[in-house]
Amino acid sequence: MPQACFVCAAPAADQVLCEACRAALPAVASACCPHCALDSPGGAVCGRCLSQPPRFDATRAVFRYAFPVSELVQAYKFQARFGVGRYFAEQLVAAAHGLQIDAVLPAPLHPHRLATRGFNQSVLLAEPVAKALGVPHLRDAVRKVRRVAPQAGLTLDERRRNLRGAFAVQRRFDGMRVLVIDDVMTSGTTLDELAGALKEAGAARVEGLVVARTPAGPA
Ligand SMILES: [Zn+2]
Ligand SMILES: [Zn+2]
Repeated sequence: MPQACFVCAAPAADQVLCEACRAALPAVASACCPHCALDSPGGAVCGRCLSQPPRFDATRAVFRYAFPVSELVQAYKFQARFGVGRYFAEQLVAAAHGLQIDAVLPAPLHPHRLATRGFNQSVLLAEPVAKALGVPHLRDAVRKVRRVAPQAGLTLDERRRNLRGAFAVQRRFDGMRVLVIDDVMTSGTTLDELAGALKEAGAARVEGLVVARTPAGPA
């Protein structure tokens, strides 16, 4: 079915976005920190990751969390625009090409949030990535057991405290390289807490792959 482009309403064939709007989406900088995917001259490890090394090993992001990617993410999550989700999943599959990992894990959603939203946006993104890489999609391997107060406006330390103990790992990950899929990475504290829990369960390496990365958050 022919669609109108989500951004400019021009004919977009069977796509969510027309070709011009797809080409104009805000990509992440070509030089970014290998740990946290923030802009970093020459692709060096950034100052924050040097002074407070995160427990995850690497992050890849496809887009910057800026207009219209921010609107697309909101439409996918809060209006269940699954065509947008499929477009994002295609981008993640391309970005995951060549990664050496053993399993894909969607960022867990608290059961209450899941009940309200009706779906976990990360599960739908993770499924095609796992299939493309030929590895298991461990969608129930980690549970979010504690609801977390909104993170906006908190310092990095407060975010870390806020998330402590939020995840319960349901199995061993001995020696495994795990790729965590999420829609947006903001401060990185969610991935950090998840990586800590996975490594306690034996994981050798934890990488993040996200649709969109916000610019540097609170220090
Ligand atoms: Zn357009
Ligand atoms: Zn960094």
